[in-house]
Amino acid sequence: MIHKILMRCGLLLVLGALASCESPSGFVGGSGHSQYGDRAGPKGFRTVLIDPGHGGKDSGARGRIRGMPEKAVALDIAKRVQSELSSSFDARLTRSSDHFIPLDGRVAIANKTRDSILVSIHLNDGPRRLAGAETYWWRTDSYSLAKRVDTSLRAVVKGSNNRGLVRRRLRLTRNPEIPGILVECGYVSNPREADLLSSASYRAKVAQAIAKGIRAQAAYGDAGMGTLPKPIYAPPSKATDARG
Ligand SMILES: [Zn+2]
Repeated sequence: MIHKILMRCGLLLVLGALASCESPSGFVGGSGHSQYGDRAGPKGFRTVLIDPGHGGKDSGARGRIRGMPEKAVALDIAKRVQSELSSSFDARLTRSSDHFIPLDGRVAIANKTRDSILVSIHLNDGPRRLAGAETYWWRTDSYSLAKRVDTSLRAVVKGSNNRGLVRRRLRLTRNPEIPGILVECGYVSNPREADLLSSASYRAKVAQAIAKGIRAQAAYGDAGMGTLPKPIYAPPSKATDARG
């Protein structure tokens, strides 16, 4: 009899614990690694891995911002995000100087972290008329983070015809085993935006907006983000994939 009662209590405890980490979307959360990210978004994470795009031999976008290549502007914004977050997170950079790291190397760095998220910082390039921020995500567990960062970025980066939130299977959105997003902070090819991005105070505002989205994700998880998109069980992105 006692045995049965204990069993029942034990079962109730397990069910209770499962219920507590299940998000309103029905996905179970978790701060560990996940291959497909088919779970609720992270909450209460400690480590933020900030990835300044390109570097070294890879300058990034063709356009220049007052002579500054994308790799330099991305590093500047990334360092600002790091200093915005370092009082409340273990905020790390994949590179802190002008050197090249292959995309798969960045994925490997991300996969060595625990209780963490990845935020890759880039600048976009395209027809002169395009302006504004775009936030790329792929995994279900990265959707809310992408949405929160995109929302706060739009308050700063005012572009009328940008693509906003984009679900795309990129090396840095699909391959890491932690939640990750790639943020295009504006178009170097757009004269008005390139002019804005050349000012340190504007880049500081962009970094503050990205940090604000990250803090909100850590504080609230998926709460208020609506129904999470369904996971897509696609293979990792490869260099040969279009726009890898
Ligand atoms: Zn880039």
